[in-house]
Amino acid sequence: MENHSDLISIVLPVFNEEQGIEQTIDTLETFIGNQPQNFELIFVDDGSKDASVALILQAQQLHNNIKLVQFSRNFGHQLAITAGIRYTSGDAVVVMDADLQDPPAVIVEMIKKWQAGADVVYGKRVSRDGETIFKKVTAALFYRTLKKITNVNIPLDTGDFRLMDRQVVNELAKMNETDPYVRGMVSWVGFKQDSVEYERQERVAGTSKYPLSKMIRLAMDGVTSFSSFPLQLANWLGSLSIIFSIGYLAVTLITGFHTLQFAIVSLFLLVGLIFLSLGLVGAYLYRVFEASRRRPLYIVSKTSGFQSGTKKHAS
Ligand code: UDP
Ligand code: MG
Repeated sequence: MENHSDLISIVLPVFNEEQGIEQTIDTLETFIGNQPQNFELIFVDDGSKDASVALILQAQQLHNNIKLVQFSRNFGHQLAITAGIRYTSGDAVVVMDADLQDPPAVIVEMIKKWQAGADVVYGKRVSRDGETIFKKVTAALFYRTLKKITNVNIPLDTGDFRLMDRQVVNELAKMNETDPYVRGMVSWVGFKQDSVEYERQERVAGTSKYPLSKMIRLAMDGVTSFSSFPLQLANWLGSLSIIFSIGYLAVTLITGFHTLQFAIVSLFLLVGLIFLSLGLVGAYLYRVFEASRRRPLYIVSKTSGFQSGTKKHAS
C-alpha cells in the first residue's frame, strides 16, 4: 500500500511560457510544501524560443526538486509528455499544463483515488474558463465523434491532466508511437481507471500554444491512431456507389436503353471501384509506412537536475 514516503512526479511540458512559468513554479512549490508526499517537478522544454529555460534553471537554484529536459526543437505537446514521463522516478506520475489551467489542488484528490487503488485518475473538465466558444464546441464535438468511431474507451472531455501509477507509466514508456495521442494510449493500456471532475481555469499568463493547426493535427493523430473508420468510409462509399450503379443499370436496361445514361452509370461504377481500391491500398500503405519509419520520436539536447547528471530513461 502507498505511504507517505511516496514520490510523486509532476511532468510539465513547456513551450514559450516565460510569462507565467515563475508563478506556476511558485504555486506548485507552495502546494508541494503542504503535502505529506515527496515531489519532483519534471519540466520538458519543447524548444521554447523565449526565456522559459533560463527561468526554470533559475528556479532550480532555489528548489532541488526541479528537473529539466530540453528538446532540440519544438516536437509538440504530446511528445513532450511522452519524453517527460520517461524521465520520472515517482511511484505515481501527474501530467499537467505549465500554465496553471489544471489546478494543483485537484492532485490531492487524484492521489486519494490512487491510494484507494486506482491506477489512472484522469481529470474530467466540467467547465473551461477563458477558452473560446469555438474551442469548446469543436473539442466537445471531436471527443464525441472519436468515441463513436473507436473501440478504445477514451473518456469524454478529458485532456492530459491525470495521475498514473508507475506500472501504467512503464507500459506507456514501452509504446514507441510516432505521433502519439497520449490520452488515447492511456485508455488503451487499461488498468483500473477513475476520474475526478474539475473546473479548468484560465491561463495564468500568455496565450494558448495550441493554434488551430496544432489542434487539427492532434485530432488527426487521435483518429488515425485509434480508428480505421476513415478508411472504412472509402470502402463504404465505393460499395454504395457500386450498388447504386448496378441498380440504376438494371432500371435503364428494363425501361429502355440510353447510351448517355449507360455512360454515366458506368462512370459511377468505375469511380466506386476506384474508391474501394484506394481505401484498401490506403489501409495497407498506412501500416507499412508506420512500421518503416525508424526515426527517434524526439531529440533531447540537454538535461539538468537529474542525479547522474544525465538522465533516467525507460528505454
Ligand atoms: N506545449 C508544448 N508544446 C507545444 C504546445 C504546447 O509543450 O508545441 C505545452 C504548453 O506550454 C502547455 C501545454 O503544452 O504547458 C498545453 O498547451 P496550451 O496550454 O497552450 O494548450 P491549451 O491549454 O490552450 O489547450
Ligand atoms: Mg493550457
